[in-house]
Amino acid sequence: MLTTQPQPKPAAPALPAPTPITVAYGDGIGPEIMEATLRILEAAGARLEIERIDIGEKVYLQGNTSGIQPTAWDSLRRTKVFLKAPITTPQGGGYKSLNVTTRKVLGLYANVRPCTSYHPFVQTKHPKMDVVIIRENEEDLYAGIEHQQTGEVVQCLKLISRPGCEKIVRYAFEYARVYGRKKVTCFTKDNIMKMSDGLFHKVFDEVGAEYPEIEKEHWIVDIGAAKLADTPEQFDVIVMPNLYGDILSDVAAQITGSVGIAGSANIGDGVAMFEAIHGSAPRLANLNVANPSGLLLGAVQMLVHIGQRDVAERVHNAWLRTLEDGVHTYDIFKEGNSSEHVGTREFADAVIRRLGSLPVQLPAVSYQQPTRQINVQVTPVKPAEKKLVGIDVFLHWNGKNPNELGARMQSLMVGKVKLKMITNRGTKVWPDGHPETFCTDHWRCRFLCEELNDCGYTGMLFLLQQISKAGLDIIKTENLYTFDGVPGFSAGQGQ
Ligand code: NAD
Repeated sequence: MLTTQPQPKPAAPALPAPTPITVAYGDGIGPEIMEATLRILEAAGARLEIERIDIGEKVYLQGNTSGIQPTAWDSLRRTKVFLKAPITTPQGGGYKSLNVTTRKVLGLYANVRPCTSYHPFVQTKHPKMDVVIIRENEEDLYAGIEHQQTGEVVQCLKLISRPGCEKIVRYAFEYARVYGRKKVTCFTKDNIMKMSDGLFHKVFDEVGAEYPEIEKEHWIVDIGAAKLADTPEQFDVIVMPNLYGDILSDVAAQITGSVGIAGSANIGDGVAMFEAIHGSAPRLANLNVANPSGLLLGAVQMLVHIGQRDVAERVHNAWLRTLEDGVHTYDIFKEGNSSEHVGTREFADAVIRRLGSLPVQLPAVSYQQPTRQINVQVTPVKPAEKKLVGIDVFLHWNGKNPNELGARMQSLMVGKVKLKMITNRGTKVWPDGHPETFCTDHWRCRFLCEELNDCGYTGMLFLLQQISKAGLDIIKTENLYTFDGVPGFSAGQGQ
């Protein structure tokens, strides 16, 4: 008699362990769009182990002036992946931007912001737009170093470093190589800020030379911005210092149809943060009207980053299909073009219903081909011979006549350090100033050593003592150096 032994069932393939990520629900519309995004990710089968942290307004109002609890940093260091909804930053005062703090503290130097048109499903004047803005994320005016120096004048320091420029520019070229992009454009204002923006442009030219297959161009940011707003189809990847990138990525996202449909990745060597481009839109909060697409596309970038490419693809294609089917939130809803006007929650439901579908007319995305990780190495800066050749002494002086100040300062000159010029907010007013130049109470007196020799700091200190003893109010000084004989300071306007 034949007996059949029951066969052991083959073991089900072990599911990959879920990836730990840190999530912050943010302020304003943040909780609504985060809830919608996470619901879609879960329905699409994302394997995530979520650690939730609170940051932003709520934490600040509980008395934590930084807006973030120390334990939140522990979570971010542990998971190294941060999905963050927008947070509110008070304007003109109050706590500092936590977005900027997070980006800088965690070394998230590259802010990658794809801005794409979905013509004809989302109405736009620019049907062919497919631009990736790569924004420097750690320096520039966002160093946030500001001081009130006199009764009339405040200052914000713009800091640009060679390694900072090299990291972001290299990242932009590597990004173009990895994603098959043809051209990298750089925007700066180096006709005015010849040293700081000039360095960014110089590094762009140097690094760009290592990528012969990629087309390169540079535009001064004002005309570049105008061209981006007018003919965005001319651009492919654009790399920019922090402030220009912040402003122009909002412009670029908005002209695709809505600032609400662009996501963003903030990439560092260890940690990465994913978010929408837009802010917390407090006026739309708790109304179930905000478009969750920006955060959702940020989350798609996150899924690709953590290797859940299959889920990223399902979500992205279902989202494209939802747009195609005309299911639109208020910001992209157009009578005659859209079929259904939905709120945040209903939009998420519509995407979930389409999981597994592909768009019919818009190109479907594929994330199946693994792309290599972008690793950026910075070239060590060669030390230069540095000589102290002068000093800019900034004064708070309530007088009005630059010639009077010039005469006083000349009487205080000692040794080989000579008064060369006085400027007011950067414009030369002595010698040979123009009577029309408006002067505030903020003056800079430039002293240079004869023949740009190094006169040593002791000489400078003696000069400062003389100025102070004469009753003049020194608000700050800036040392003037040459590096390998090249002056490391700008001329005065009109000098
Ligand atoms: P915002 O981007 O929050 O909103 C501006 C306008 O854009 C809104 O009024 C709305 O008309 C539209 N909009 C933005 N997001 C939308 C969405 N998802 N769906 C539909 N429409 C949308 O800009 P804001 O009002 O200047 O800034 C509000 C707050 O957000 C400020 O405190 C700001 O500091 C902060 N902010 C945060 C981030 C961030 O967390 N990364 C970024 C930018 C601004």
